[in-house]
Amino acid sequence: MNSIINDIEIIKSETTKINDVDFNNLAFGSVFSDHMLECNYKDEKWEAPKVVPYQSISLDPSAKIFHYGQSVFEGMKAYKDANEDVYLFRPLDNFKRLNISAKRLAMPELPENYFMDGLKALLEVDKDWIPKQDGSSLYIRPFIFASGSGFHASPANEYKFLICTAPSGSYFSGKVKVLIEQTYSRSANGGVGYAKAGGNYAGQFYPTQLAVEKGYQQVIWTDDTSHEYIEEAGAMNIFVRINDTLITAPTSDRILDGITRKSIVELAKAEGINVEVRKLSVHEVVDAAKNGTLKEMFGAGTAAVISPISGFGYKDEDFELPELEDTFASFLKKRITDIQTNKVEDPFGWRYKVD
Ligand SMILES: *Cc1c(COP(=O)(O)O)cnc(C)c1O
Repeated sequence: MNSIINDIEIIKSETTKINDVDFNNLAFGSVFSDHMLECNYKDEKWEAPKVVPYQSISLDPSAKIFHYGQSVFEGMKAYKDANEDVYLFRPLDNFKRLNISAKRLAMPELPENYFMDGLKALLEVDKDWIPKQDGSSLYIRPFIFASGSGFHASPANEYKFLICTAPSGSYFSGKVKVLIEQTYSRSANGGVGYAKAGGNYAGQFYPTQLAVEKGYQQVIWTDDTSHEYIEEAGAMNIFVRINDTLITAPTSDRILDGITRKSIVELAKAEGINVEVRKLSVHEVVDAAKNGTLKEMFGAGTAAVISPISGFGYKDEDFELPELEDTFASFLKKRITDIQTNKVEDPFGWRYKVD
C-alpha cells in the first residue's frame, strides 16, 4: 500500500510534559505523551490523519458514542532497544483486528496506511516518550468512536480515529486470585465478544466488583450457556497447565483472538512444550487441582504479557495453585519480551522495526 507518511500534517505542541515524568516509576496508562494522532471520517471517507498536541476533544451531547456505544479500540506497545531503535510487535495484527471490531459495530474500516503511517508519524514525534527501562514500554491505544450526532438508534455518519500513547512500567502486580464465574457472561454466541468493543469492558466491571467484594481480583469467564467451559481471564486470554501440557480455549465469537495468546501457542510449540487448543471444562481444572496435576494458570494479553494466577474460587470452594520454581509463565514471558525488545533473534518475524 502507498505510504501517506508525507501527507500527515504535524502540529507540534509548544510545551512538553516529559520533564514531569519519572520514567523509573511509571504506573500503567496514566500519563500521556505530548501528541496524539487524529483522523476524522466525514462524507463517507477518512480525511488525512494529523499529529496534534494531546488535548481534550469536544463532542455534541447527542454524539452516538454516548448513547449507542459505537466504540472500538486496540492495545499495543512500542519498545526501544539498547541502540534506541524502536520496535512494535505484530502491529498489522492489531490493525486487522481493529477493522474486524469496527465492522462488527457497523463502523467504517480504516485503510492500512492510515493506521500504520499515522502510528509511525506519531512515534517519530514522541520518540523520547518511549521508555528504555527494562520492562517499560510505550503503551499505544488506537481507537475509533462515533462522533456523529443524533438520537436515532442507527450508525453514526461521522467517526474519529485517534491514537494516544502512555509510557508505562511493567504491569506486574503480583499473582491474582480469580473467581470462576457462574452467573454473568462476558460475551455470548453471535455477540460482540470477539471485538474489542468498549461496551464489552463496561459489562465486565460489575461482575468483577462482586468478585472483588468476595476477595478475588479477577473473574474467569465461562461460556454463556452452561458456564462449564473456561474462556477468558478478565480482559485476557487464559492458559492452564495440567502436568506439562499447556491448554487454551479455541477462539470463537465469544473469545477475543489475542495476539499474545497466539504468540504463546506458537512459541511454546517451538520450544517443545505440548500445547492443546481445545475446550477446557471447569471440572477438568477442578479435578486437576484436586489430584495435584494442575500446575499453572495464567492470563495472556499485551498489557501484562503474562499474568500468573495464584488460585481460584469455584462455587464455594477455593483452590490453591502450587508455587513452582520454574514456570512456563516466567519462561514464556521472558522469551516474548526478549523478542519484543530486540534482545534475542526473532525466528517468527514478529518484531517490526519502526524506521
Ligand atoms: C485485548 C484482549 C485480549 C488480549 O489480546 P492481545 O492482543 O494479546 O492484547 C484478550 N481478551 C480480551 C477480552 C481482550 O480485550
